[in-house]
Amino acid sequence: MNTLKSINDLGRHTEPLRGELDAAIKRVLDRGWFVLGPEVTAFEQEFAAYCGTSDCVSLASGTDALEFALRALGIGPGKTVLTVANAGLYSTIAIVATGATPVYAEILPDKLLIDPTDMKRILDGHKVDAIIVTHLYGMLANMRSILLFAREKGIPVIEDCAQSHGASRQGKKAGSLADIACFSFYPTKNLGALGDGGAITTSRPELAEAVRQLRQYGWSSKYQATRPGGHNSRLDELQAAILRVKLPHLDTWNARRREIAKRYSMGIKNPRITTPGIHGEEHVAHLYVIRCAEREALKLHLAAAGIPCDIHYPIPDFAQSAYNAMFLGVQLPITTQACNEVLTLPCFPELTDAEVDGVIAHINSW
Ligand SMILES: *Cc1c(COP(=O)(O)O)cnc(C)c1O
Repeated sequence: MNTLKSINDLGRHTEPLRGELDAAIKRVLDRGWFVLGPEVTAFEQEFAAYCGTSDCVSLASGTDALEFALRALGIGPGKTVLTVANAGLYSTIAIVATGATPVYAEILPDKLLIDPTDMKRILDGHKVDAIIVTHLYGMLANMRSILLFAREKGIPVIEDCAQSHGASRQGKKAGSLADIACFSFYPTKNLGALGDGGAITTSRPELAEAVRQLRQYGWSSKYQATRPGGHNSRLDELQAAILRVKLPHLDTWNARRREIAKRYSMGIKNPRITTPGIHGEEHVAHLYVIRCAEREALKLHLAAAGIPCDIHYPIPDFAQSAYNAMFLGVQLPITTQACNEVLTLPCFPELTDAEVDGVIAHINSW
């Protein structure tokens, strides 16, 4: 087995595309138009068509996408947004940026996604103004129950699709399943730029228009700032051109990620380890995450064999020291236990079967 330097190898990912990427970059340089030009317009159309929505508005990051989706829905000071606390703090950062307050639902102990029953319990006892649902690790959440409970109360739902580009259920793709959806194109995501990027998708044109204004200082037209809360958050032409090269490969890459995840789940047979199981199109295996009560010992064993791993994510949002003063008394035992036990194994489309088998062998010999 080659030695893996980290749980991702973006060099291997980019290498086969070098010719196409060079041509895309040259096209932008030759045109001399670098912000909000034809590449951005084309990418937005192509990505909206891919997701099955009327609109896509590209942005500088996934975190900005979350913040702007909230602002477009009227979220601000005095509002409450329901989310989960095991998804890397991004939704909390966006909620707090608007001046609203997060409230956390528990997660399902097996899938680590939002628990719709706990969500309903909170909606019945609390005033909640919006819900952010994260399709964590590439797995679609139970949108049918979530939307049923949310619509009973007229609460808008935001999908966080930063880990689930291309996941689908009954032919409907992540990004088209709720009111508005947020994507990140950070380089390691299933669809990644060569730098930062993000987008929202929606089939509610008024929300798309609000985000279009927010990404450019809150302008409704040049130098006319009519919408508060805007800042500068645009995907640039180079990144849009690069994403246009990569989008046509996304389904193939996702299929390969699923194959790798399946190989792990079939091969790992260690009673001290729980695998995420085997899934269909609703899973795009952004991260392959196992659980182990003795995580530190397993990590050391794998590190000794030169196998890189990582933890997504080690600290629940409400326990992060930058924010924990807001959440004194919050206790979510399933979330906390998951944060203590999750371990991410290498999973990217260019990983070879032999490399996967090498990781499996070291896990089974522990
Ligand atoms: C990566 C990620 C984000 C944030 O995206 P950035 O582009 O890094 O701001 C948001 N949510 C989830 C679930 C993510 O994985």
